[in-house]
Amino acid sequence: MFKNIKKNKDKKFHDINRKRRGFKRIRGMKDILFDEYRYWDLVVNKAGNLAKTYSFKQISTPLLENLELYKRSSGKSSDIVNKEMYSFIDKNGEKLAIRPEATPGMARAYIEHGMFNLPQPIKMFWLGPLLRHEKPQSGRLRQHTQFDLEIFGEASPVADFMLILIAFNFFRELQINVHIQINSIGCRECRKEYISRLLEFYRERGKRSKLCPDCKKRIIKNPLRLLDCKEEKCIELRAEAPQIVDFLCDECRNHFIKVLEYLDELDIPYNLNSFLVRGLDYYTKTVFEILPAEDDSSRQSSLGGGGRFDELVENLGGRPTPACGFGIGLERVILKIKEKNIPLKRDEENYVFIAQLGDQSRRKAIGLFEELRRGGINVRQSFTKDSLKAQLEEANRLGAKFTLILGQKEMIDGTILIRDMESGIQEVIDYKKIKNEIEKKLNGITNH
Ligand SMILES: [Zn+2]
Ligand SMILES: [Zn+2]
Repeated sequence: MFKNIKKNKDKKFHDINRKRRGFKRIRGMKDILFDEYRYWDLVVNKAGNLAKTYSFKQISTPLLENLELYKRSSGKSSDIVNKEMYSFIDKNGEKLAIRPEATPGMARAYIEHGMFNLPQPIKMFWLGPLLRHEKPQSGRLRQHTQFDLEIFGEASPVADFMLILIAFNFFRELQINVHIQINSIGCRECRKEYISRLLEFYRERGKRSKLCPDCKKRIIKNPLRLLDCKEEKCIELRAEAPQIVDFLCDECRNHFIKVLEYLDELDIPYNLNSFLVRGLDYYTKTVFEILPAEDDSSRQSSLGGGGRFDELVENLGGRPTPACGFGIGLERVILKIKEKNIPLKRDEENYVFIAQLGDQSRRKAIGLFEELRRGGINVRQSFTKDSLKAQLEEANRLGAKFTLILGQKEMIDGTILIRDMESGIQEVIDYKKIKNEIEKKLNGITNH
């Protein structure tokens, strides 16, 4: 009996303690606060504008998909499906996954909505969150935002090239220097021959025992991934490994050469990297990654990447449809902009702040605010504040060019004060002429 009372007391104490401590966000998750949205606005607008310039149309797909979709696209042996994906069984017993990458959902949408009946290619642009259970100690987020472009129904190497060009432009226009790592991993046919040679190589005496535990499994499940292991021992071993470009069939080789020729033509800096395979099952032919230019450590983190996936749509139950795409991680882009202190363009809008003194003038000022706003003037206010000083401080904080001040005297006289926020000079003007006066002054600024 006493024991129970004590237990309850302990529990109560525990609950109170928890309430006091409150809640913290989940590991690997991040809040984006007000100031950071300046960066987000910049990057998201750049992404959207570029996509539209190159005739990509926006699409959204749900955060939840069938677990099987990712198993059949990203691949059962991929890190994404094996280690990182959040998956669960819902209340109806359905196996679901929270989106760990964007491409499979878009391929599903392409098939489900019969987009193969529309004129090809279908060019999609996508922007949204992905969730992966990454190791937080490496500073990686478990929820991150990706900008994705995909082209469905286009076999030409021009499509691969255009994607790389757009990705490159995205970074260049944000003043981030990047270079491209590129490789071709061939098609189903030519890869078969290569993989058997690769296995021969790794099975030679003494090599297998030197591999890391993950690679020992990869040898059985997904030998291509031996090439992109980040363990030092495995990197040493692979130096002598056969290179896939030597095994490409004529079609794959010609395709690859064309992509490189276009890149040369437009002076896009790239390195051939014969070990680049990109860890997902669905890639064929071209694969590429975008790396920060100044960073040449072997553990450099890529800012984005993509490639061709000519077999994906068919593997998911659609008609054979050549396709390619890329994704860029926006958190990393923003981190780079901050690291390099790239100046954000200042908000060049000319705000007009409306301040008031006293209840009556507040009512009139609210009406004036609406009138000017509808008239296309960029107005700001702080009508909940009573003191003029506090309102002028707010106007300064916002960077307003002019403040209109409406007090009791002005109410009686049918006038309003206009204050130049930089010089502090105030003029009295006729209330009825206010819109004209303001427009004249704002035009004066933009004409300089
Ligand atoms: Zn081939
Ligand atoms: Zn390894």
